[in-house]
Amino acid sequence: MRASLRIARVWGIEIRVHASWLLIFALVTWSLGAGYFPESYPLLDRPTTWILAVVSALLLFASVVVHELSHSLVARAHGLEVHSITMFVFGGISELKGEPTRASTEFLVAIAGPIASFVVSGVAYAASLLTSQVSLPLTAMAEYLALINAILGAFNLLPGFPLDGGRVLRSVLWGITRDLARATRIAASAGKGVAYGLIALGMLQLFAGNVAGGLWIAFIGWFLIQATEQTTHAMDVQSAFVGVKVGELLKGSPRVVEGDAAVADLAAAMLQYGERAVLVMQASQLVGIADLKQVRRVARELWGSTPARAIMHPLEQEIVSPSERLLTDVLTEMGSRHADYVVVMDEEQVLGLLTLLDIARFMELRTALAEARPQAERQRAA
Ligand SMILES: [Zn+2]
Repeated sequence: MRASLRIARVWGIEIRVHASWLLIFALVTWSLGAGYFPESYPLLDRPTTWILAVVSALLLFASVVVHELSHSLVARAHGLEVHSITMFVFGGISELKGEPTRASTEFLVAIAGPIASFVVSGVAYAASLLTSQVSLPLTAMAEYLALINAILGAFNLLPGFPLDGGRVLRSVLWGITRDLARATRIAASAGKGVAYGLIALGMLQLFAGNVAGGLWIAFIGWFLIQATEQTTHAMDVQSAFVGVKVGELLKGSPRVVEGDAAVADLAAAMLQYGERAVLVMQASQLVGIADLKQVRRVARELWGSTPARAIMHPLEQEIVSPSERLLTDVLTEMGSRHADYVVVMDEEQVLGLLTLLDIARFMELRTALAEARPQAERQRAA
């Protein structure tokens, strides 16, 4: 996530602010200072309303952090690694490493955020009652926090992707049907339904004379449609991968050259195999990987006299995976280590080498086939 700034670290989870959040912060502060507080609490003076607006906008930010942290902590309690939380235009995004592998885990992780928002809302409401005889500004702020957190919780519970409610819906469907891909498609359609519903509601408000509120609701609906389409595509890719093990991508016997072979022979082997990278063996032991880039770094006159082992990446620096490991896990590791290759090995037996390009080709094929499935289902039903 570029264009974001790290502002804190809570329980090992990075909290980052995306540049777009500054815009929303300004908008929220302005709408509170110029509209909400003066209209709801006419007894407050101007300077007080503006101070309240800034502090309340910051507390709204803190509320969203609490919401996201709840997702993250529940995810972590269920063995999912949480990397960071980034605050965005419309709330936050928790970056998890990997996806829940069980419906019950997804349900708990998804519901944790809205529950946290409702709890914060309840606490703020109690605070507003306690301060009502003491200080009007404090009561105004607490009432605003109670309201906004209730809205945050309720909005996120709308049953469409990529909102929390959509994830809750998907986990329930997943639990019932045992079919993640189907559950995903239904939840995504529900997401579109919710989004168009919001746009329609926004239009009605607009015609009823509530221009700002109507535009705002319609804009959120429009944003949701974009987000749903993105998530649906990402999930098609993901569901095309569910349960796939790295060993399944290997084709034929491993492509190898001897460490003593000259770079010229290495280049010939690459051409013969049609591969940009090959494994380098020395005395029947795998010692490294040699790729096109390294070959090209050697001057042509030296191709006959330079051995392959002199230019290879040593094995210790590469990702080595057993054939049974899930492709999604391997891809995550490749992403975080910026690796281009994964060596597939069971115990001491070398099975082969996968490049990012191999994985991309496989991904393209599986995604294209996954996207074709709904049509096939319709034909079966007919
Ligand atoms: Zn959430």
